[in-house]
Amino acid sequence: MTERIVLLPGDGIGPEVTEQARLCLVAAGKQAGLEFEFQEELIGGASIDAHGTPLRDEVIEACRGSRAVLLGAVGGPKWDDMPVDVRPERGLLGIRKALGLFANLRPASVLPALVNASALRPEIVEGVDLLVVRELTGGIYFGEPRGRQGEKGNRTAVNGMFYAEHEIERIARVAFEQARLRRNHVTHVHKANVLDVSQLWVEVVDEVAADYPDVELAHQLVDSCAMLLVQEPKRFDVIVTGNLFGDILSDEAAMITGSLGMLPSASLATGGFGLFEPVHGSAPDIAGKDVANPLAAILSTAMLLETTFEAKDAAAAIRDAVSAVLAAGHRSGDLLLPGELRETVGCRRMGELVLEELERA
Ligand code: NAD
Repeated sequence: MTERIVLLPGDGIGPEVTEQARLCLVAAGKQAGLEFEFQEELIGGASIDAHGTPLRDEVIEACRGSRAVLLGAVGGPKWDDMPVDVRPERGLLGIRKALGLFANLRPASVLPALVNASALRPEIVEGVDLLVVRELTGGIYFGEPRGRQGEKGNRTAVNGMFYAEHEIERIARVAFEQARLRRNHVTHVHKANVLDVSQLWVEVVDEVAADYPDVELAHQLVDSCAMLLVQEPKRFDVIVTGNLFGDILSDEAAMITGSLGMLPSASLATGGFGLFEPVHGSAPDIAGKDVANPLAAILSTAMLLETTFEAKDAAAAIRDAVSAVLAAGHRSGDLLLPGELRETVGCRRMGELVLEELERA
């Protein structure tokens, strides 16, 4: 059977890295007996240029009719002066909302070959392998009341933080399920000493935990979690939290690895449907030069294979191939350490190297 995947390459380096990711997905999928059919659609600035809007209903429908979505990145200076509600980034928010992608999964692991890329000492980051599970469609970014009032000297602004029990329960379940695939530990991050919303999170997460007696649960205040992440990141397995805290902590966790070009992500809806994309943006400064690092996009396809098709071996094959390429000393420009003199490989060549490893395996 052919599995349909919608490709949304987007803007800047999006098309370059997505193409390498597609090729690796095809190769790894083949080994797992999966055959893909790709439907390419426009999103972000590319869609604005062609259709006057960052996301069309037809594209949402195409995504709904597919098994999974693989996205590159959106945005760029060309569209920066446009009104906020028609900018490329609206396409991204729009698709998350339209597809009900409430669970954002961002793994941060430090590959042995890149242990020196982190700003933290190697002995602190060596072996870090954590996953931030962030609630993506609720909380203060969407809450009411919101807005500003008053004139200068008397201005006020408000954003309500709201969570319903079912929103907390479903994201907690995602975290516990993920922990079962990993090291059976969940840290719930909150601010329950101050926020009523966080107190509800603690209660509901505890209730969900009763269904997962094999998974250990800890509750951690967000401020101390921020400190522990840089002091002792190895202690974490799965971190689950709301939209606001997750936004900040997932970037902090990402920086432990030191390399934006290496970080994949998945955004999941009820039933496991997912959109997979690198964490980085469209990098307009290097777009079209064949120097972008495609590994974050390639690693996003490992998450796709694992999540959408339960093809664990194929996902592992991609991760192993990436590790092998790096262990052999190949680096894209973004992975060079300051002052390091080493020949770099471009986007296409890096993709080819991963493909060669996949085929060798
Ligand atoms: P960015 O992630 O695009 O780039 C930050 C820096 O990292 C740049 O120097 C860039 O060259 C480098 N970089 C990023 N990805 C790389 C890769 N794969 N290989 C090598 N180097 C890489 O972030 P930014 O510069 O703040 O934003 C640029 C545009 O991207 C903006 O329009 C922004 O809105 C958009 N953006 C989109 C997404 C998304 O689509 N998910 C996420 C973040 C930013």
